[in-house]
Amino acid sequence: MADQRVITIDGVTLTVIVTRKAVKHINARLRATTLSVSAPYLVNDADLENAISTLARRLIRRIHKQQVNCEEDALALVQRVAARFPEPPLVAHAEFALTEGRWGSYSVATRTIRLHAVLRHMPRWVLEAVVAHEIAHAVHPNHSPAFWRLLRSVCPDTDRAQAFLEAVTWMARTWHNLSPVERTLLAGMCNETHEA
Ligand SMILES: [Zn+2]
Repeated sequence: MADQRVITIDGVTLTVIVTRKAVKHINARLRATTLSVSAPYLVNDADLENAISTLARRLIRRIHKQQVNCEEDALALVQRVAARFPEPPLVAHAEFALTEGRWGSYSVATRTIRLHAVLRHMPRWVLEAVVAHEIAHAVHPNHSPAFWRLLRSVCPDTDRAQAFLEAVTWMARTWHNLSPVERTLLAGMCNETHEA
């Protein structure tokens, strides 16, 4: 017996088909926008709902990450930017990810750079500035004056990129407070402050 409904997770609308079966655990498979779930007979509805949300979120993010990293080779990008450094540091892995709360990260232990997937939609110089920032952490694992000196020498756009990213974050938080007419007018803005 299967029951079917629609849920929205991370802004994605999915058709969920739940089948009760003689299985031990709740399992889910996502194909396009259909989430097929098999659940043990004895699991109660609240636990099932929680498990479906968690599994759906995990699958949506995993598929998104695979797509994004197929479209663009993050390691090749990192190596291009690393070549600007006087002594290019070794970065073993790089990937685009849905990193929560930060634009990029560098792991000293695994020599891995992770870049927020949204950066791919920004101007190239902003993406490259974040890449340069993370590569500089392979040399200086801190924000010391030496770190900023090195970073600004290989990436003169550093401060401009920082301001750009602050504006993006501000806009993402503010967007839902704007009226539809304000949003429409914003989309048509040119970057000039004087009157024509
Ligand atoms: Zn940093």
